[in-house]
Amino acid sequence: MILPEFEYKKPKVIKKALQLFQANRGDAVYLSGGTDLVPRIKQRLEKPSIVIDLKNISSLNKIELSRSWLKIGANVTIYELKNHPFVKDNLPALADSLEATACETIQMRGTIGGNVLQNTRCLFYNKSDEWRKAKGYCLKMGGQVCNAVKGAKMCFANYTSDNAPALITLETQVRLSGVDGSRQIPLAAIFSGKSDRPFTLQPGEILTHIFIPANKTRGCYLKIRVRDSIDYPLVGAAASLKNGNGCLAIGGIGAKPLHFDFDETEDGWGERIAREAASHVTPVANTVLSPTYRKKMVYVLVKRIVRKLSGEGC
Ligand SMILES: Cc1cc2nc3c(=O)[nH]c(=O)nc-3n(C[C@H](O)[C@H](O)[C@H](O)COP(=O)(O)OP(=O)(O)OC[C@H]3O[C@@H](n4cnc5c(N)ncnc54)[C@H](O)[C@@H]3O)c2cc1C
Repeated sequence: MILPEFEYKKPKVIKKALQLFQANRGDAVYLSGGTDLVPRIKQRLEKPSIVIDLKNISSLNKIELSRSWLKIGANVTIYELKNHPFVKDNLPALADSLEATACETIQMRGTIGGNVLQNTRCLFYNKSDEWRKAKGYCLKMGGQVCNAVKGAKMCFANYTSDNAPALITLETQVRLSGVDGSRQIPLAAIFSGKSDRPFTLQPGEILTHIFIPANKTRGCYLKIRVRDSIDYPLVGAAASLKNGNGCLAIGGIGAKPLHFDFDETEDGWGERIAREAASHVTPVANTVLSPTYRKKMVYVLVKRIVRKLSGEGC
């Protein structure tokens, strides 16, 4: 599949990128590593007339550690982040999820900002235009019905970032810059809960930095995928613990990661969160694995995480 024609700009500062976006509203998209966006443009899931490449903005390329935060520029690659000593030594859930993302060649190109803002996916949506036209465009493409769930009037595409669930368990915040200034919000607040428009960002807002509290944590991330060497999560589960207080997040099913707090000192906490997580997910038949299996695997992955956190191994 070849790319269609579009204008290409590579500004050096955020202000210029925001101006370019505003001048071309509705037709512009941001590009970082391009590993999610470029296939989408090839499949005509996006039809921009201008692509604004953020990689020349040097303020987005750094990782800085202070007493309070690990501050990560949105352009930092998955590979660079997974090799950062603070991540390796203190944030095991994130270290695991970065390692489990795609494969090393994609990790060297794909950024953490692009990873968090990757679009939702569905077996009936991430296809060529010819395929989708023959089937009839689905809700996410402006059609009338969902092609995965017969008769449904809502979209069920899955949000498949490996790293967002791990980051949520670490109480991560994100900084967004727009034409009206910048704001800092919890990462969990960027999700709309709607699979066809998954994010709450204002049009043109740029994710500039990710802030993780600079604490030592215990944790773990596990995923189910078809090919261990490269695939997206069909279920992903992350947990992090600090001073007995924990957070579990489930990704790969539905519009956004679900998260649950737990207390390690509570009797039977492991069984409780495993059951709670499995009961809250609502997978549908839009991946290569059946919904029943994916739901069961939420319980299984969480129990494996609990065993690992309790020192019993996986
Ligand atoms: C074969 C294959 C396997 C993959 N496997 C996995 C996997 O296992 N796990 C996983 O999590 N992902 C996977 N991915 C998805 C993707 O490669 C990664 O998530 C990657 O980290 C995306 O980052 P990027 O910089 O390439 O994003 P891009 O493609 O550049 O951008 C992704 C989206 O974010 C927007 N965007 C990017 N940066 C910003 C910003 N700073 N501000 C505002 N908007 C922005 C873009 O407009 C675009 O919509 C896979 C991709 C492929 C092709």
